[in-house]
Amino acid sequence: MSAKTLDGREIELKGDLVDRWQTRLRGPVFSPGEEGYRASRTLWNAMIDRRPAVIVRCLGTADVVECVRFAREHDLLLCIKGGGHNIAGLAMADGALMLDMSLMRGVWVDPHGRIAHAQAGCEIGDVDRETQLHGLAAVLGFVSTTGIAGLTLGMMMRPAPPAPCLPEDRHGTPVVMVLACHSGTPEAGEKAVAPNAPRTTRPTSSGHAPRGTT
Ligand SMILES: Cc1cc2nc3c(=O)[nH]c(=O)nc-3n(C[C@H](O)[C@H](O)[C@H](O)COP(=O)(O)OP(=O)(O)OC[C@H]3O[C@@H](n4cnc5c(N)ncnc54)[C@H](O)[C@@H]3O)c2cc1C
Repeated sequence: MSAKTLDGREIELKGDLVDRWQTRLRGPVFSPGEEGYRASRTLWNAMIDRRPAVIVRCLGTADVVECVRFAREHDLLLCIKGGGHNIAGLAMADGALMLDMSLMRGVWVDPHGRIAHAQAGCEIGDVDRETQLHGLAAVLGFVSTTGIAGLTLGMMMRPAPPAPCLPEDRHGTPVVMVLACHSGTPEAGEKAVAPNAPRTTRPTSSGHAPRGTT
């Protein structure tokens, strides 16, 4: 498999090495030309036409960790597609190992704590559907196919409502803010990087939510 490194070099990874890595994955893996590759590399902005070296549709955190570990060991360029809505196509890079999160769309709502935990492949509509079951709403957006991962990592178009509106918005709808942010590391597996205690997003003086707050 030929792939790009972080500093842009083209390298060749031996077949048996790649095969061994792939046996440790549970999600499907696509190389250029294989069925599924094209669908996985499709972004909302269809003008973006980049070709990752290999695409993994992760089925869980363990797959993510395996991919990060493999990329780190071989200095590979890594990219991640959440909902694929970033207009500049930041989710995809030529020659990269690409993680397609679209199979990880679980949402767990704690109606009493008003906390929603959602996986990194969720779209806004996935979260809305589960929170609305409990008469709750998440402050996310209005186009239901937008990915929540890229959005909560700081690419929000819409400022959060002013702090006094929380936890109920001005229409009296109870609000769920999606709070936890998890990072996968090869050493420690999954690790929560945000406190578990409930927090609400506060707008900055510019009126926008602070970056990284979810
Ligand atoms: C039609 C449309 C409607 C929109 N509506 C809204 C809206 O209502 N509200 C709003 O706030 N914004 C909206 N946006 C903007 C949107 O928030 C951003 O485009 C955001 O990047 C989309 O997130 P995504 O997961 O789909 O992005 P992607 O394109 O998948 O990813 C964007 C960036 O985040 C990175 N990323 C994704 N997942 C992860 C992860 N798990 N870990 C680390 N990095 C990751 C990617 O690598 C990439 O750099 C809209 C955009 C479009 C095109």
